[in-house]
Amino acid sequence: MGKKWSGSGSTMRLFRSRSSDSPEVVDLRTSAEGPSGPPWGSPSNCPYCHGRGYLDHVDLFDEIMYLHCTACEEKFVLTRAQTDAARPSA
Ligand SMILES: [Zn+2]
Repeated sequence: MGKKWSGSGSTMRLFRSRSSDSPEVVDLRTSAEGPSGPPWGSPSNCPYCHGRGYLDHVDLFDEIMYLHCTACEEKFVLTRAQTDAARPSA
């Protein structure tokens, strides 16, 4: 995330952590089977009837999505933490 590119020292560290980071392969295989949830910013299905969700509003400051269901018209909210938890971290 906030990493700065700073010379060969960090290059070596990056390389070493990559080669020993085998769970990365498992992550790829898991996402190939199908993502377990929509990414942040995309409307997700209704948690009540699994109908199609309609994204009304995104609060970027609080990282909350406000949606309503196009089938049962139930309103629901989804936080970024919830969408991130539903998906394997990249
Ligand atoms: Zn619904």
